[in-house]
Amino acid sequence: MRASLKNRVRSLYRRGLRASAVGDGVVLMFHSIPTAQAIDDRLIPNPSMESSPRFLEQVIDHFQAQGYSFVCLDALAERVRGGRRGERFACVTFDDGYRDNLLCAHPILAERGVPYTVFVITGFPDGAVVHYGAITHHWVASSDVLRIRLGGRLHVLPAGGQDEKIESLRRLRALISGSLKGSEIKGFLEDMGAPMGQHTLSWAELAEMAQHLLATIGAHTINHPKLTSLDATAARREIEGSKHRLEEVLGQPVRHFAYPFGAAGAREFGLARAAGFETMSTVKPGRIAVGRTDLAALPRVRAENGRLDLLETGLAALRTR
Ligand SMILES: [Zn+2]
Repeated sequence: MRASLKNRVRSLYRRGLRASAVGDGVVLMFHSIPTAQAIDDRLIPNPSMESSPRFLEQVIDHFQAQGYSFVCLDALAERVRGGRRGERFACVTFDDGYRDNLLCAHPILAERGVPYTVFVITGFPDGAVVHYGAITHHWVASSDVLRIRLGGRLHVLPAGGQDEKIESLRRLRALISGSLKGSEIKGFLEDMGAPMGQHTLSWAELAEMAQHLLATIGAHTINHPKLTSLDATAARREIEGSKHRLEEVLGQPVRHFAYPFGAAGAREFGLARAAGFETMSTVKPGRIAVGRTDLAALPRVRAENGRLDLLETGLAALRTR
């Protein structure tokens, strides 16, 4: 019932698009939207992965003030195919499937009536993959010392003061990335007693999000690998598997995909097309050109927390290309 209402509203959106002029656009890329306090407390800030709710508001308000209208990716696909230029448009996307997208970002977007897409790593809600950046941060932040057995050695990481915590967090992440495969990280963190928390969207939360008229759930592979480093069979499994899993659990078609790390070439474009996606997002900076942009390789513009100036100068540079 709700899904059919949602489809009706979407088709109205699309009809509205046909009636109005269409034009060049931009796809904005965000990841996590933690609370401002959480960002202030980070031992090692990561502004390209974490934006504050305030910054998200500023970006939306800025683009609206510049005359952009925010549309969903279905509407973007329609405009690109339609080929008539006119009013500028923007899409909001979030990669990976962080829980704060629902808790912190959704209320801001809902208040402003801004559609958005979350590209989900299905290994997150299925419990096979964990957000190890958040877990290692909380582990070091809440410990005085960490004793870690890795690579047949005991590593003692002091974490008494702020400087020690920062240094030990760097060492911990280097040890993990240097010694463990992606599939081993969750088991290692659990064995070591790290506080696992819940940093990513559960299936129940994704189902709740999927019911919102403004939300689109897209796929972002199962395990977030660099697809270009996999053989064709494994790459196909990652692309198709994430689509089918989301469709199976959420009971709605999944039409949009984002390549992890933006790693994609002709083979990945072909695999994603064959899987039946309508749009595929990269991380290559660029603007959307109506009638010209390849929907299998959408450029995006990364939002760097607090740097509206970078977003503006980046876009200005892209405009002149
Ligand atoms: Zn990602």
